[in-house]
Amino acid sequence: MTTYPAISDSLDRQTSQQFYIDGRWVHPAIAASLPVIDPATEQVVAQVARGSAEDVERAVAAARAAFAGWSATPVAARAQVLGKIHALILERTEQLAQALCLEMGAAIGFARAMQVPLAAEHVRVARDVLSSYRFQTVERGTAIEREPIGVCGLITPWNWPLYQITAKVAPAIAAGCTVVLKPSELSPLSALLFAQLVHDAGLPPGVFNLVNGSGAEVGAAMAAHPDIDMISITGSNRAGALVAQAAAPTVKRVTQELGGKSPNVLLPDADFAKAVPLGVMSAFRNVGQSCSAPTRMIVPKDRLAEVEALAAATANALIVGDPQSQDTQLGPIANQAQFDRVQAMIQVGLDEGARLVCGGPGRVAGFATGFYTRPTVFSEVASAMRIAQEEIFGPVLCILAYESVDQAVAIANDTVYGLGAHVQGRDLQLARAVASRIRAGQVHLNHPAWNPMAPFGGYKRSGNGREYGVQGFEEYLETKAIIGFGE
Ligand code: NAD
Repeated sequence: MTTYPAISDSLDRQTSQQFYIDGRWVHPAIAASLPVIDPATEQVVAQVARGSAEDVERAVAAARAAFAGWSATPVAARAQVLGKIHALILERTEQLAQALCLEMGAAIGFARAMQVPLAAEHVRVARDVLSSYRFQTVERGTAIEREPIGVCGLITPWNWPLYQITAKVAPAIAAGCTVVLKPSELSPLSALLFAQLVHDAGLPPGVFNLVNGSGAEVGAAMAAHPDIDMISITGSNRAGALVAQAAAPTVKRVTQELGGKSPNVLLPDADFAKAVPLGVMSAFRNVGQSCSAPTRMIVPKDRLAEVEALAAATANALIVGDPQSQDTQLGPIANQAQFDRVQAMIQVGLDEGARLVCGGPGRVAGFATGFYTRPTVFSEVASAMRIAQEEIFGPVLCILAYESVDQAVAIANDTVYGLGAHVQGRDLQLARAVASRIRAGQVHLNHPAWNPMAPFGGYKRSGNGREYGVQGFEEYLETKAIIGFGE
């Protein structure tokens, strides 16, 4: 079995066959493993231990035992450990980027510049929010206290593996909770590096625990576990609903970051020469594998030809290829199942009669192996089509035409999802008015810089709860009112 040379310094074969529980690397209860496949070569590059309900049991017991001590640890001491985790992520950027490249095909430049630093930002934000947070307020004799909810089960996906982990782990431990993390079984390598990093940062044993394995085994055992107080999952609607069902008998808190089909409304006064390329780039960022990717570009009917030409020029200029090459903008799709799904949905678009502007089915020319997908743009897409309604999670953009701003808003809202949205226009008053009419958890006006303090989460079937910033931190807190507290 090949190991993964680029990251072998800190993640050896031994560690990948173990879990991190109670401050130590431990063997799984039952010896079993899961292959990790490099989507660029389709070769198995590692085997990680595959957990079971018994491993969850051990991890939850460790987290429960650590809770009393960690929740009572002074804010300054908790903030200090978070600061150390933040520094170590940045220090180990190269190892983490290599792991992301190998486990899910992230282009190495993108992993170094985005996936890793943005993951570090969640830790910095959690530390900063913690440092200034008022855990107690008193008004008219009643105290409102915010307390950590307890043991949290965190379930993360493969598309932004490290980023999704820090978006949950950092606020949870900042709040004083202890955690059991189950990363995606498809991208477990960066998670193992993260566990080692948390250990090196000096987090006390039991505060952070990691068990690898499948959703059906480890994830389901966590969701149903009576001693887990809260589950936070990011992933598909299917898994999010299964987690909520399994969690219901124990009445735990469930937060869900699920799918999206985010609209990008180009108002008639938008700067099309800028807005269209930026819209295509943000739809195809991370090879389109982002839950909030703006994959429905909604444009004035009389500007359709111009939009199509700009979109095709942008998509055709993208460098798709070996994720290890510094020039590559889009690596392969992260795994076989997702590649198959994207290919099937491109075919659906053709069958439904949408007009192919560029891209199409099949691998990128020159690649016989690797899940390399052609950046694909469809136009004349009707809102009722499956390609406009279903999350594709690949580099596939739908262009839909509108005749009035009211119709644009109606198309934007014609979805079961409500995660992200974009609006482009020079008249900020109009753009704001349109933003307020869109049913989504986060609206971006004219492609602003990313703001890690802005709460992120879904309306409708995109989920429940928020991540990032103060609101993301507060998801991990309980509320206690003490009436008769006095002034
Ligand atoms: P998934 O929902 O199956 O996996 C996400 C996480 O949930 C993984 O850790 C998985 O092991 C776990 N999980 C799965 N079933 C579970 C269960 N019954 N109980 C507990 N945990 C469970 O997602 P996927 O297979 O990785 O991707 C499938 C689709 O999900 C994609 O096509 C995409 O549409 C969507 N997706 C969305 C996001 C997002 O951020 N919104 C991320 C990844 C995938």
